[in-house]
Amino acid sequence: MTPFLSVRDLYVRFATEDGTVRAVDGLSFTLERGRTLGIVGESGSGKSVTNLAVLGLHDPRTTEIRGEVLLDGQELTGAPESVLEKLRGNKVAMVFQDSLTALSPYYTVGRQIAEPYRKHTGASRREARLRAVEMLRRVGITDPALRVDDYPHQFSGGMRQRAMIAMALVCDPELLIADEPTTALDVTVQAQILDLLKELQQQTGAAIVLVTHDLGVVAGTVDDLLVMYAGRAVEQGPVREVLRAPRHPYTWGLLGSMPRLSSDVGQPLTPIPGTPPSLLAPPPGCPFHPRCAYAASVAEDRCRTERPSLPPGRGAACHLGEERQRSVFAERIRPR
Ligand code: SF4
Ligand code: MG
Repeated sequence: MTPFLSVRDLYVRFATEDGTVRAVDGLSFTLERGRTLGIVGESGSGKSVTNLAVLGLHDPRTTEIRGEVLLDGQELTGAPESVLEKLRGNKVAMVFQDSLTALSPYYTVGRQIAEPYRKHTGASRREARLRAVEMLRRVGITDPALRVDDYPHQFSGGMRQRAMIAMALVCDPELLIADEPTTALDVTVQAQILDLLKELQQQTGAAIVLVTHDLGVVAGTVDDLLVMYAGRAVEQGPVREVLRAPRHPYTWGLLGSMPRLSSDVGQPLTPIPGTPPSLLAPPPGCPFHPRCAYAASVAEDRCRTERPSLPPGRGAACHLGEERQRSVFAERIRPR
């Protein structure tokens, strides 16, 4: 059976004044209905670009996209704008990080929820307004019939994020792309929003792609995890396995730079040394090698010359090999 969403060998390149940016460099993944895929990595790792490419939201004059994006069997790369336009906000919807820029300050929250509904279903103003009230109720806004006429600035940050989710879900999308949906919120509200997404998913069976730089966000939320670095997937697998026994040195770094338990709070975090590479000229071989403490231990300088490939299913794109990944993690990473 073909998966609901299938991305195969996706390449995204931008032309800039300084040269070509290889934002996504050969990415593949699949996602089934009712499941959530977490895509995690530092900023500039290609997470958001991947999603925009899936939605066809790039400027074709400056962006080259190669590869295959199949949604429910329909090819999206190179699909005409009219086809994509029909999908967006309807079968596929997106929730962004920043509700202040995604919601217009000039229109009421209700109108902004009702608008895509009218556009895609042809509902009347009255029906769409009722639908907006219903959506606000579903995302947990108290007194939705009153709040529907509020402007975004009359909502708190958490409420605006709920309103954005209502807007995204108003046409019952089958795929929801949530890009850093909780980054601007405090921890308590973050947890509420993630719970809400999961609850709505259980009701609708939608597939969700959750993009985040924060491994703490994915732990209780996603089913599968894809770790991205420099436009490539470096590790993937069921989230529990990746978090319990991560195999890629970059994932070890990500885990080391976040507080894992409440008892860790106050403990110094270990940031990953160095910075992500320029995507104008990504390093040859393994893109992580300039920052990797284990590159020198791999024979024949392979890390600097040979691009490691990501095995399908559970695995990491790393020349250390599974055996050494396991032993290094058990002996040197976990005890910290
Ligand atoms: Fe480090 Fe080499 Fe593995 Fe890349 S392939 S993560 S440089 S050990
Ligand atoms: Mg981003």
